[in-house]
Amino acid sequence: MGDYNQLVVLDQIRRASQSVSRVELASTTGLSGQTISNVVGRLLELGLIEEGERQIAGRGKPRTMLHLRAAAGYALGVHVDPVSVTTVLIDLAGTMVDRSVVTTPDGPTAVIDALAGEVARMQALVPDGAVVGLGVAAPGPIDPEGGRVIHPPLMQSWGDVPLRDRVADATGLPTLLEKDVAAAMVAELWQGDHDIAGTTLFVYLGFGVGFAFARGGEVLSGSSRNAGEIGHLIVDADGPECFCGNRGCLGVSVSLDHLVAEAVAAGVLAESTPRSTPAELDLAMGLLATASQADDGAATEILARASRRLARGIVVISDLLDADRVVVGGANWERFRPQLSAAARTEFAGHATLRELHGVEMGGAALGPWLGAVGAASRVLDAAFTPHASILLAQPVTA
Ligand SMILES: [Zn+2]
Repeated sequence: MGDYNQLVVLDQIRRASQSVSRVELASTTGLSGQTISNVVGRLLELGLIEEGERQIAGRGKPRTMLHLRAAAGYALGVHVDPVSVTTVLIDLAGTMVDRSVVTTPDGPTAVIDALAGEVARMQALVPDGAVVGLGVAAPGPIDPEGGRVIHPPLMQSWGDVPLRDRVADATGLPTLLEKDVAAAMVAELWQGDHDIAGTTLFVYLGFGVGFAFARGGEVLSGSSRNAGEIGHLIVDADGPECFCGNRGCLGVSVSLDHLVAEAVAAGVLAESTPRSTPAELDLAMGLLATASQADDGAATEILARASRRLARGIVVISDLLDADRVVVGGANWERFRPQLSAAARTEFAGHATLRELHGVEMGGAALGPWLGAVGAASRVLDAAFTPHASILLAQPVTA
């Protein structure tokens, strides 16, 4: 795809919520009408876009609308977390074509075998060569240059694993590795129905809590793509003890082991509730949330206390970024939703430093459990089809 202008135009067409005409492309990209016409011709030849309906605007010539040819390319995405391995196949327009989820097997080799099987099955659903690549989302921190995951929490037998290269070897596909929270935010920016122009804080409630930030649709990922590791922000001086030696860190305050232990201590869950593996903790957390929905006061108080602590962290980080939107997603969001929504409202109204200047909208993510995998696949499409400043340096714009 070398040509920078070609990428700029294709990116505009990908990001447009409806089809666009050549005239609109000239005005949004600032390229001349002649350049647009040449670039569009090349994209049509490559089969990446197609012409659609003709639209009459005012007294001028009718405009031919252009849209993406969704079947022109596909990407695969895999999200590995302590409980499940989720795989999706998306087309060029970002629509999910197939998806699956399996329980996370023990250890990296078994996980790579399982995901390679799913990847091969999904690849067979589309023409040969149509899959541009595979994105893997994994819990941070990650080493993006070496493509390694480094001691992912709650995945004891993992250690330091060159996941990207091992997955590329097992699948034969060009593979990229992304931190799961950042991948989830990419998916949300693409697929969510909110306005992405502003500054967004994304909160991912999975096994613990993770954060990602974006401005104007671009994720701010930091110097090693690990921005958002703020689990040790102290949100309650009287909170639970953290392994770092402090009390009331954000991460431990909303961690499943802590909440499940509290539920057992309060008699919400039986002493015998299995809680040694991630899958068992996840099940127990589900039981705690169900008890709260059934009006168990002690269960609700556990979730409400954790939500107040989390809301405190969200408000601090939101002030830091001067965010205008907070989006919450991840496997545990639904379980926290009533208490966290209420706690965040109170905290924003009472403690946000910028509350007199502007409100902060808070809502849930669009894609539920598929967010991380779809985001990893979207990153593959972005890498293939989005113009980046690095290309600009290598190839000056000629209009
Ligand atoms: Zn800590």
